[in-house]
Amino acid sequence: MHLQIYCGIFMKHLVDTLRRCHHLPSSGYVTLLSCDDEQALYLHQQAQQVAIERFGHGIYVRGLIELTNVCRNDCLYCGIRRSNTELERYMLTSEQVLECCRQGYELGFRTFVLQGGELPRERAQWIANIVSLIRKRWQDCAITLSLGEWSRENYELFKKAGADRYLLRHETHNAEHYARLHPAEMSLDNRLQCLQWLKELGFQVGTGIMVGSPGQSLNNIVEDIEFIEQFQPEMIGLGPFVPQHATPLRDYPTGSAELTCRLYSIFRLMFPNALIPSTTALNSIDANGRIKGIMAGANVVMPNLSPATVRDSYTLYDGKATGNAEAAEGIAQLQAQLASIGYHIDWGRGDFNKCIMHNAQCSINAQCIMHNA
Ligand code: SAM
Repeated sequence: MHLQIYCGIFMKHLVDTLRRCHHLPSSGYVTLLSCDDEQALYLHQQAQQVAIERFGHGIYVRGLIELTNVCRNDCLYCGIRRSNTELERYMLTSEQVLECCRQGYELGFRTFVLQGGELPRERAQWIANIVSLIRKRWQDCAITLSLGEWSRENYELFKKAGADRYLLRHETHNAEHYARLHPAEMSLDNRLQCLQWLKELGFQVGTGIMVGSPGQSLNNIVEDIEFIEQFQPEMIGLGPFVPQHATPLRDYPTGSAELTCRLYSIFRLMFPNALIPSTTALNSIDANGRIKGIMAGANVVMPNLSPATVRDSYTLYDGKATGNAEAAEGIAQLQAQLASIGYHIDWGRGDFNKCIMHNAQCSINAQCIMHNA
C-alpha cells in the first residue's frame, strides 16, 4: 500500500516536471511508459489540459488523399510493399486528385495530405506538377506530402511547387531495430538524412513511429523520444503497429492503444505546440481510439478524401477503419463524436505556430516567443 502511494506521488512528480521542463531523464520516460493505467490517468489529464490551453477545444482536420499504392520499397510491415502480389495497384490521375481537393474544399478542408507508396524516382516531376496545380487553385490551403524518401533536389522541387509540410516517420531510431523492419537496401541513415533535408528546405516536418512494431523494446521507444526531442519536429505521427496478412511480419501482435496514448501525452507535454494526430491506426484497433487520442493530448484528425473506389486498395494493415467518421463524407459524424466530449472541428489551416495561446496568457514559457520577445 505504502509502495503504491509512493509510486503515485513519484509519477505525479514526473508528469509535473515534464509539463514544466519539457524534458525528463531516460529513466523518467521508462517510468511513464510502464506505470499502471490508473497512474497514467494523471499523465493524460495534464497533456489534455496543455492541448486545451494551446488550441482550445478545436481539432484540426486534414483531408487525406491516398495518391497511390504503388511502392518501390519493401518494408516488412507494410501492406503496400512491392512484394505484395495480392494487391491491385492504382495511381490516381491528377484530375482525380483535383476532384478530391475540390470536394474537400467544399466540405471545409484547408489542408490536403497527399500520401502514398514511394513512386519510381522519375515520377518526381509528376508529383511536383500535381502539387503546383493544387497550389494554384486553392491558394489558401496547406499542402502536406507523405510520399517517403527522395533526393534533396526532389524535395526542393516539391517545395518550390508549393508543398508546405512533409510527414516522414523515422519508424525507429535504433539501427538494429530498423534492420528488423526493413530490407537490407533501406537504411536508417538515409531516412534521417531525408528528415534533415526537409527541415533545411523549410518544410514543416513531421516524424514518428509505429508503437509496438515487432522487436521494439521500451528502450527503443525512449531512444525515439530522445531523437524527436533533439530533432524538434512540428508534427508528430504515432500509431500502433497493426499486422497485415500479406507481409512477413503478419504473425506479430498488434501494438497497444494505451501505450500509443501515453506517447501522445508525453509528446504533448514535451511539445505543447506540436501538431499531433489521433491516427486512423489507433481508431482501427480501438473503436473509441480517436477520442482517447484527443483526451491524451492529440489535436489533429485526418479524414479520408480518397475516391471510394481505391480506399480498399490502400491496405497498409488489416482492419483499417475506413467508414463513417473516418471518411471525409462522414464529417457530420465526426462533428457529433467531437461534440460528445466538448470539442469541435477547427477549420483553419492549422499551421505550426511557435506560440498559439487560446484566449489566455502563456503559462508555460519555455517555447513561447511571446515571453521571449
Ligand atoms: N511511403 C511513405 C513513407 O514511408 O513515409 C508514406 C506512406 S507509408 C505507408 C505511411 C506510414 O504507414 C508509415 O510511415 C508507417 O509508419 C505506417 N504503416 C505502414 N504499415 C503499417 C502497419 N502494418 N501498421 C501500422 N502502421 C503502418
